[in-house]
Amino acid sequence: MTATLIEGKPIALDIRAEVAAKVALFQAKLGRAPGLTVVLVGEDPASQVYVRNKGVLTREAGMVSDEIKLPADTAQSDLLALLGKLNADPLVDGILVQMPLPPHIDSQAVVAAIDPAKDVDGLHPVNAGYLAQGIEALVPCTPKGCMIMLERIRAQVPKAEVAGASALVIGRSILVGRPMGALLLSANATVTMAHSRSRDLPALCAEADIVVAAVGKPEMVRGEWLKRGAVVIDVGINRIAKEDGKTKLVGDVHFASAVEVASAITPVPGGVGLMTTACLLQNTLDAACARARIKL
Ligand code: NAP
Repeated sequence: MTATLIEGKPIALDIRAEVAAKVALFQAKLGRAPGLTVVLVGEDPASQVYVRNKGVLTREAGMVSDEIKLPADTAQSDLLALLGKLNADPLVDGILVQMPLPPHIDSQAVVAAIDPAKDVDGLHPVNAGYLAQGIEALVPCTPKGCMIMLERIRAQVPKAEVAGASALVIGRSILVGRPMGALLLSANATVTMAHSRSRDLPALCAEADIVVAAVGKPEMVRGEWLKRGAVVIDVGINRIAKEDGKTKLVGDVHFASAVEVASAITPVPGGVGLMTTACLLQNTLDAACARARIKL
């Protein structure tokens, strides 16, 4: 058996096109485009690339993108004061503070200082609380992207139907695992959450119709662990060394063995990663519409 590939690119392109079309409607109704402000503290090279990409895609979707770069030694109080200003700015619909922050800044305090209505990363405790209660709100972008992938592949792969499925989420981070579990539960899956203290991960995998791996351990989940026909969403992005001294990206799932057992699987790269920014654009549009009290 060779699994169907759930590729992120076509789905992400669809979402970006849908967002761009709705941004044009928003502009026509309100005389302005939705605005996303990304705050970057310090000069982490990977973060600089992420922020630049987000800016390019935001502008491509017709939205206003603002990037605020602050030095690495910015005081936490100055960052919180900036967030206060952005919260009060009517032209800013979405605020994202790029993580990780320098170690002298308390990232929880920073996230909590963002207006929940502008929290396009979906990490504010108010939004996390709504999600835990199954109430519609701004949801973290990566798990949102995973749910969209499952939804879009369902016509082709009936086993991707979430309602009634046994779903295993490996990883319980605030960014991915926990919100993923909550979204699957809201979509009527029977959800098991696994983590570093789970006793028998292969046995848990063997029971799961849907496996979401968000661990950060290269190729940890083996094909032999999976139930035949399982649908596998690999969130992991790990850079590992190759024999020739170069590096390559791999997921948290051992793709070569999993593809022989699963009915559908996301590749790495080219899978979930591409969905995250597309969902950020969607969240920014949703935040703008909710603030303007309009439906498009
Ligand atoms: P994280 O905060 O480090 O969380 C990792 C989780 O995995 C923790 O809950 C940890 O359990 C669990 N874990 C660690 N070792 C384990 C083991 N041996 N067995 C079972 N569970 C184990 O990571 P994250 O932010 O959620 O990210 C996870 C992965 O997704 C990373 O590879 C990251 O690069 C990737 N990622 C990708 C995207 C994207 O856009 N595609 C976005 C975000 C993250 P404990 O809680 O017990 O420590």
